[in-house]
Amino acid sequence: LLPPAMEVANRYVTIRHHVDGAPTEADFEVREATARWAPGSGEVLVRNLYLSIDPYQYNRMKRSSASHHAVDGILPGQRITSYAAGEVVASACDEYKEGDLVAGVLGWEDYTVFRPSPGVLMSKIDDAAGFPLTHRMSVFGTSGMTAYGGLFEVCKPVKGETVFVSAASGSVGSLVGQFAKLAGCYVVGCAGTQAKVDLLKNKLGFDDAFNYKDEPDLKSALKRYFPDGIDIYFENVGGEMLEAALANMNAYGRVAVCGVISEYTDAGRRAVPDLLEVIYKRITLRGFFAWDFLAKFDEFNAVIGDWIREGKIQVVEDVSDGLESVPSAFAALFRGENVGKKLVKLA
Ligand code: NAP
Repeated sequence: LLPPAMEVANRYVTIRHHVDGAPTEADFEVREATARWAPGSGEVLVRNLYLSIDPYQYNRMKRSSASHHAVDGILPGQRITSYAAGEVVASACDEYKEGDLVAGVLGWEDYTVFRPSPGVLMSKIDDAAGFPLTHRMSVFGTSGMTAYGGLFEVCKPVKGETVFVSAASGSVGSLVGQFAKLAGCYVVGCAGTQAKVDLLKNKLGFDDAFNYKDEPDLKSALKRYFPDGIDIYFENVGGEMLEAALANMNAYGRVAVCGVISEYTDAGRRAVPDLLEVIYKRITLRGFFAWDFLAKFDEFNAVIGDWIREGKIQVVEDVSDGLESVPSAFAALFRGENVGKKLVKLA
């Protein structure tokens, strides 16, 4: 006997208009909708438990998004797809059953209906490892994949090298710095408050850290922190930070261009790197995407899982409560108010 079709009251967060400048709560609204699921549809109905809040979503919300970026643009009023974790409420396909926990592309909403297919990123969460569900959204999700892949595959750190990480107390940066320490590197991070600097130095094992907002001249600040130069720069910020880091790079230095958050909200702000530095010093600048490492997802997570169990990695997460907190959680990323992975927990 087939189960009955289901209709559940749903709420989703959307943009009121295309965003411009630093995002604020007023750019968003929560709308009501109905999520519908039917037996025989091949679809899965998921109740979302944790939503991932990520800077790249901003670039989807701009008017120019569709022509500029490798991700789909978002129109005002549209649902916003996002990495999330949830529980299967009803399933019309064999791979998933009621009660399964899943993580993958769901949405900033209470419920999501998805149709499994090779193009849909979704995996079942095997709880045997005993990690909190939030870790599936941070260290075992895209942040971990970005940090691990960006550092080890793109930068290929060698013991004794010097590593500079920007937005170092954030989701990706906090992991990159700790991974680089495990690779035997000398690691300095920068962040936007003294409390974050203290966290980097006292809890996360960075060799040194500084508040970039206290440094009127980033080039000379980096010269102070790296008197012998930077071998690896893990770029999360862009703008003057990239210019300053390039000016302090050593020969054959590597720059992993992960993100340029300071440039997302300010169209007039662009790094103007001195390309002669790049040539003379044979510097490699490489952009990358977390998804580039999808084939190695399980391999990375096995290593990271061991490090967490051995107490070698601290996972920093910053969780807000309730769907209505999504707009402020998102805006907080651009005000530097988050520490570690920003998540929203749904009731
Ligand atoms: P996050 O670092 O946890 O949060 C963003 C942080 O960026 C804020 O806490 C703030 O910290 C800093 N920030 C915000 N505005 C800034 C500005 N104007 N100048 C300097 N710093 C600023 O976010 P995340 O998810 O880990 O992402 C970090 C970067 O990686 C972003 O650029 C993101 O787009 C990128 N990313 C790329 C990929 C990929 O596949 N390539 C995947 C994930 C993330 P402070 O206190 O330090 O200012």
